[in-house]
Amino acid sequence: MLNLKAIVHGKIIRENKIWENQVLLYADKIIALLPEAEFSNEMADEIIDAGGRYISPGFINVHIHGCIGVDAMDDDDDALAKMREILPKTGVTAFLPTTMTYDFPKIYRSLERIKRAMEQNGGAAVLGAHVEGPFISVKYKGAQAAQNIAQADFSRLEQYGDVMKIITLAPEQLADYAFVELCRQHGICVSIGHSDADYEQALEAIHAGVSHVTHLFNAMPPLHHRKPGIIGAVLDSDVNCELIADNVHVHPALQRMVYRAKSPEHIILVTDSMRACMLPDGKSELGGQEVFVENQVARLADGTIAGSVLTMDQAVKRFWENTGANLAEVVAMASANPARELGLFGERGSIDVGKNADFVIFDENVSVFATIVKGKKVYVSA
Ligand SMILES: [Zn+2]
Repeated sequence: MLNLKAIVHGKIIRENKIWENQVLLYADKIIALLPEAEFSNEMADEIIDAGGRYISPGFINVHIHGCIGVDAMDDDDDALAKMREILPKTGVTAFLPTTMTYDFPKIYRSLERIKRAMEQNGGAAVLGAHVEGPFISVKYKGAQAAQNIAQADFSRLEQYGDVMKIITLAPEQLADYAFVELCRQHGICVSIGHSDADYEQALEAIHAGVSHVTHLFNAMPPLHHRKPGIIGAVLDSDVNCELIADNVHVHPALQRMVYRAKSPEHIILVTDSMRACMLPDGKSELGGQEVFVENQVARLADGTIAGSVLTMDQAVKRFWENTGANLAEVVAMASANPARELGLFGERGSIDVGKNADFVIFDENVSVFATIVKGKKVYVSA
């Protein structure tokens, strides 16, 4: 006997629409969507009343370093467990802990812990790692430590081919595209980021199989009308791009322009958040460097913006407000689009029968009411 559960009185976000008067039936996977008239309380062992709120596929964050004082690179077995436990509060049901430019032994230790976390249940799921650096541009290192930037060499990471899902690199540093081909064979998305590539180099990389661009606008040359650069290549192609929609990393007007210029299915909302996320202002740390958080903006001592303190619920809310896009489109940027990019759309990223029962229930302010992972309530607001 399946332990059936139901969510009633919700507005289900599905297939780019909002469905009302439907009941969502699930166990660890989604079992059915029923018209309200065909549902009776005896059909389910547990019923959640959404109270007119939205029922959305759970958010998938493909770029997050840390939150609540911990970082994916901490030599601490509890760091990822803490992230898995707290992230459902922000609507996240799955994520890619993201490593930074460090010495290889530290990156390896981090990938080992991420590998173990992929096997664990409870809280938000760890889908693998986003490896940001060390094969990046010194010129656009952002908050990454310059002394550990290395020449691109896939053999140095190959042993973690099953853990890495996205690797951010500067394509202008590659001798050829063999690196990209090896990543594709391992099912790893190659992403342009922390890069000084020009428009031609970026487009060439995209044609060679690079499918993703890391935090569009940040840590790359700005858009210039005679030098379109990476940003021009993103707006002029169907490559997927991350956006940090916190209104600090990218001005709301630029968020709107990206929304107008790009097919919405190629925009992926991320947080790029660091350990100070979900904590009050104060001193923090990122990639071995001191960070100061003031008015919820994180900077290095020299003023460089260093990661964010953004959460996925806030990213959805801000991008929705800033662009006037319909909510279903924005939700897809935090669920279906990242799932598709990771090759996981068959099992997650939308509310469809047979997929994982990963949901977030939120109101008109994108304030999270409850989060469900594999059919289990992992967060309910007080
Ligand atoms: Zn990052």
